[in-house]
Amino acid sequence: MSARLIDGKAFAAGIRVRVAESVDSLAIRPGLAVVLVGTDPASQVYVRNKAKQTAETGMVSFKHELPEDVSEAELLALIDRLNADPEVHGILVQLPLPSQIDSGKVINAIDVAKDVDGFTIQNVGRLTTGLPALVPCTPLGCLLMLRHHLGHLSGLNAVVVGRSNIVGKPMASLLLREHCTVTIAHSRTGDLPALCRSAEILVAAVGRPEFVQGDWIGEGATVIDVGINRLPAPERGEGKTRIVGDVAFSQAVGHAGAITPVPGGVGPMTIACLLANTLTACCRANGIEPPADLTG
Ligand code: NDP
Repeated sequence: MSARLIDGKAFAAGIRVRVAESVDSLAIRPGLAVVLVGTDPASQVYVRNKAKQTAETGMVSFKHELPEDVSEAELLALIDRLNADPEVHGILVQLPLPSQIDSGKVINAIDVAKDVDGFTIQNVGRLTTGLPALVPCTPLGCLLMLRHHLGHLSGLNAVVVGRSNIVGKPMASLLLREHCTVTIAHSRTGDLPALCRSAEILVAAVGRPEFVQGDWIGEGATVIDVGINRLPAPERGEGKTRIVGDVAFSQAVGHAGAITPVPGGVGPMTIACLLANTLTACCRANGIEPPADLTG
């Protein structure tokens, strides 16, 4: 068997088109504020991409750059201003923050209705208790791809490997909400290969290159590889790297029914879902039902 590829790049492009069409039909322009502290080059690239894609979908992008030595009080004061600003519907604070700042305090200061990363304790609670929530972007992207690929998820056995607050746990909550039977695996789980083989949906969010082996995958399972791991690639030139996922892809395609590649799978979905969440936040702030196919 050779697995069907789930093309996250194409899927993300489709989401951006859907978001742009919805934005076009609104009387209000959704606004996304991105806060960047310091000059970390990787964070600067992420923030630039977010701003570019926000503008391309017709939304307004507000960028706030603060120096590395900004105080927690100054950052909290900015969050307060953005919470009160009617033109801002979504607020994202680029992580990680410098050590003088308590990230949890800053994240939880964001208005729950503008928390487009879905990281506040209120949004986590809303997700797990089944209330409308803003859902973390990466697991939301995984869910949208699974819904599109499988149609309905009800009754399927799902195994999520990884229990982080930003991927594993919200992914499991979303799958439970879709009526899957969900098992969360982590570093203390016994006989992980056997557990993985029982999965009809397998989500790998481990942070270990090519960790999930081909023979851990049940025949025909749908595999979502969240991992982004950089490995040295001297064959591409000195200092070059290549990106691999948490699943041994070349083995996995012989067992899975469908699989997301890395790169080009889950990765492109994360920013697309940030845009979808900003649209959702704007709609809800204005008493409009957000598009059902773009929400968790
Ligand atoms: P974390 O490091 O926060 O969590 C990793 C999880 O994997 C932990 O729950 C850990 O278990 C579990 N784990 C580690 N080793 C093992 C093992 N040997 N057996 C079973 N479970 C194990 O990572 P994240 O959730 O933040 O990220 C996971 C991956 O997803 C990374 O590769 C990251 O780069 C990628 N990622 C990709 C994104 C995207 O946009 N595509 C966005 C976010 C992340 P325990 O809790 O017991 O320690």
